[in-house]
Amino acid sequence: MVPPPSDVEQLLRAASLRVTRPRVAVLGAVQDSPHASTDAIIEAVRRDLGEVSHQAVYDVLRALTTAGLLRRIQPSGSVARYETRVGDNHHHVVCRSCGTIADVDCAVEEVPCLTASDDHGFVIDEAEVVYWGTCTQCAARAAG
Ligand SMILES: [Zn+2]
Ligand SMILES: [Zn+2]
Repeated sequence: MVPPPSDVEQLLRAASLRVTRPRVAVLGAVQDSPHASTDAIIEAVRRDLGEVSHQAVYDVLRALTTAGLLRRIQPSGSVARYETRVGDNHHHVVCRSCGTIADVDCAVEEVPCLTASDDHGFVIDEAEVVYWGTCTQCAARAAG
């Protein structure tokens, strides 16, 4: 019996990408843990598929990011993180102590941050806003 195609496989097909086990594993891993680091993704993929080279995972991450299935973010001082929530120009809040990252919707509905006060003639398609602060757990730890 052939198992029904997973969501992940459908996403790959919709992006005209060949469905391969490493691609399914990487996309699945990022879906399961948003804002995952490359190391965490490699670990999850290895749990799934056994031995997979770093290079293979890097290649898949690059292909999926280029295809628009993954968004790569890299807050300063942090390693690159990947997420499957793409195309909505959402922002991130990052904890300065532990590096936890959470999603923040655009502050005013329709991606207003794409309307730069002066676009210098550029066609702008993304605005990267990072809010920095202290997460609730770190704040509690500091208070306790
Ligand atoms: Zn924290
Ligand atoms: Zn996000």
